[in-house]
Amino acid sequence: MENKAYLSLGTNLGDRIENLQAALTSLRNEEHITIERLSSIYETDPVGYTEQASFLNMAIKIRTSLSAEELLEKCLSIESQLGRIREIKWGPRTIDLDILLYNQDNIESEKLIVPHPRMHERAFVLIPLLEIDSTICFPGTRMTLEELSDSIQGKEGVQLWRQINGVDVSEPLGN
Ligand code: ADP
Ligand code: MG
Repeated sequence: MENKAYLSLGTNLGDRIENLQAALTSLRNEEHITIERLSSIYETDPVGYTEQASFLNMAIKIRTSLSAEELLEKCLSIESQLGRIREIKWGPRTIDLDILLYNQDNIESEKLIVPHPRMHERAFVLIPLLEIDSTICFPGTRMTLEELSDSIQGKEGVQLWRQINGVDVSEPLGN
């Protein structure tokens, strides 16, 4: 499990908490992935295509022996297992699983771009990520996550929905 990666999870269709749980269970059942940290869950206003229900978003830190491409395949297969249908760009989805960072790698292939190209401007990605680790640096820059998130827009659209490692756990996320 020599590689360290951060993933972002998002959902706004059906039973959102169940979708997050199902995605986490699939990741946990993957022998080449260990989940190290979970952020709290945030409820977030849709961005881009705004005529849709609000999202639940969270971030996780994992260790994995999968390559970045294999990890993407795993994420896409979990998305389709959970019934994600791709229709409207940035539209409603049962689950969206994105690779935010993979070690300090810069990857740019047809299928995979890491760091995730839109993470820098998305409060719904950065706020949960910041909770896991505020000292993360972006490959090729000295900018920390904290410095980056100081300047982003739309933070008011990201509300703590349920704390996981903190106090507010009314219905913990099982295992
Ligand atoms: P978004 O996550 O920006 O809302 P989509 O989930 O609809 O967009 O985009 C899915 C496609 O994005 C995938 O088929 C995948 O090939 C591509 N992609 C490129 N880079 C990444 C990444 N870092 N994580 C996840 N998917 C990525
Ligand atoms: Mg995606």
